[in-house]
Amino acid sequence: MRMSRMAAVAATAALAVSMAACGDSGGDGTGSENPDVATPSFEAGTTMAELSEAGTMTVGTKFDQPGFGKLGLDGEPAGFDVEIAKLIAAELGIAADDIEYVEAPSAVREELLEQDRVDIVVATYTINPTRKERIDFAGPYYVAGQHIMVRADDDSITGPESFEAGDKKICSVQGSTPAENIQEYLADVGEQLVLFDVYEKCVDALRGGQVDAVTTDNVILLGFIADNEGDFKLAGEQFTEEPYGIGVKKGDDAFRDFINDTLEKIYDDGSYAAAWESTAGAFDDNTPTGPAVDRY
Ligand code: GLU
Repeated sequence: MRMSRMAAVAATAALAVSMAACGDSGGDGTGSENPDVATPSFEAGTTMAELSEAGTMTVGTKFDQPGFGKLGLDGEPAGFDVEIAKLIAAELGIAADDIEYVEAPSAVREELLEQDRVDIVVATYTINPTRKERIDFAGPYYVAGQHIMVRADDDSITGPESFEAGDKKICSVQGSTPAENIQEYLADVGEQLVLFDVYEKCVDALRGGQVDAVTTDNVILLGFIADNEGDFKLAGEQFTEEPYGIGVKKGDDAFRDFINDTLEKIYDDGSYAAAWESTAGAFDDNTPTGPAVDRY
């Protein structure tokens, strides 16, 4: 999967260059803004100074999640997480076109930061204590919640309790919080829980009838529902809270503070709301106002 995507990126690189001047793509959930770039100066030796000086940064994000981070035909990801990354880059004096994106499937997000393969991870990334043992989080910048998606014609599943009888299979992603949270509702985890590396494989398995449901955050599922009109629907209610953070390398408190400051700034100046409206806002018109950041 990863190799074929890389090949696709290479094959469309020329197209991406020719499309770069086209700007916004409108209200179809793939909106792409190019924020005004600041000309800041930072204390020498900080991550901010290094990135600003380099004029580029590497962002880990999702490549398969409509509305948050999904690879487009131009070979670049688009979505709310991508827009948040661009707004952070702009505060560092880095233009949107100078960001490099790396696919960050759920299970490898900590590893990407630990191995210095990315500077930040913005990837529907729930802040939790286990992850905080390995990395740090700025934010939260959005609060999602776990939900269940089923085929549109299936009324037999009404929430996580529908899996307690043990006769239905549910799909999620390795290394994700939903894959953990659902287990308490399953009679036989080994038999009922199907795990892939990325959510679009779960969506294919649901369509093909190999599983009865997909579970992850509501906004991710809404993106798949919008992208596959008429095929799927949500079942029951949200049953967890998933506060999304921006992952940074463990111990880089100055960088974390800077990102938290940037979040507060974009909440206030309207660019956060605009980022939502041009992306996930296409299928979720509850434009968030920006949750209070946690400066732990
Ligand atoms: N927010 C959850 C997580 O961080 C689910 C979404 C995802 O896998 O990216 O695990």
